[in-house]
Amino acid sequence: MANLFRIKCPSCGKVIDIPSNTTCSCGSPLVLPEDGMIEVYRIGSPFGAAIGFGVYLNEVPLGHLANTGLVRIPVQYGHYKLHMTQGMSRKCKDVEFDVTPENRIAYFKAHLNMGFFTNTVVIEPSTADQMPKN
Ligand SMILES: [Zn+2]
Repeated sequence: MANLFRIKCPSCGKVIDIPSNTTCSCGSPLVLPEDGMIEVYRIGSPFGAAIGFGVYLNEVPLGHLANTGLVRIPVQYGHYKLHMTQGMSRKCKDVEFDVTPENRIAYFKAHLNMGFFTNTVVIEPSTADQMPKN
């Protein structure tokens, strides 16, 4: 897995993974924020493996996260709420956190909790050494 960063084009709204600052296919410049970063690793599971988790940051949809996938989202300092969905299930244990100069990278692990009728995406705070290496 290459070092890719997820960004939403401010102009056309397309969500793409890019290695560095570049230009969107719509012609708008894509500039990665350099304050901090949010990393989310999806723990591998045979359950619902084919279905990507929907990623939402402060209610803004940011694409999907595949089974055993890792997403890096560069952000500016601020308060964030991370929400994820799976398939038809909207249930999620959201996490809220701050990205600050003292805490520039926020690490999370996400997995699916299988229920009788609905599944819940569980997001847990993690640490750098628990994230997969490239
Ligand atoms: Zn664009």
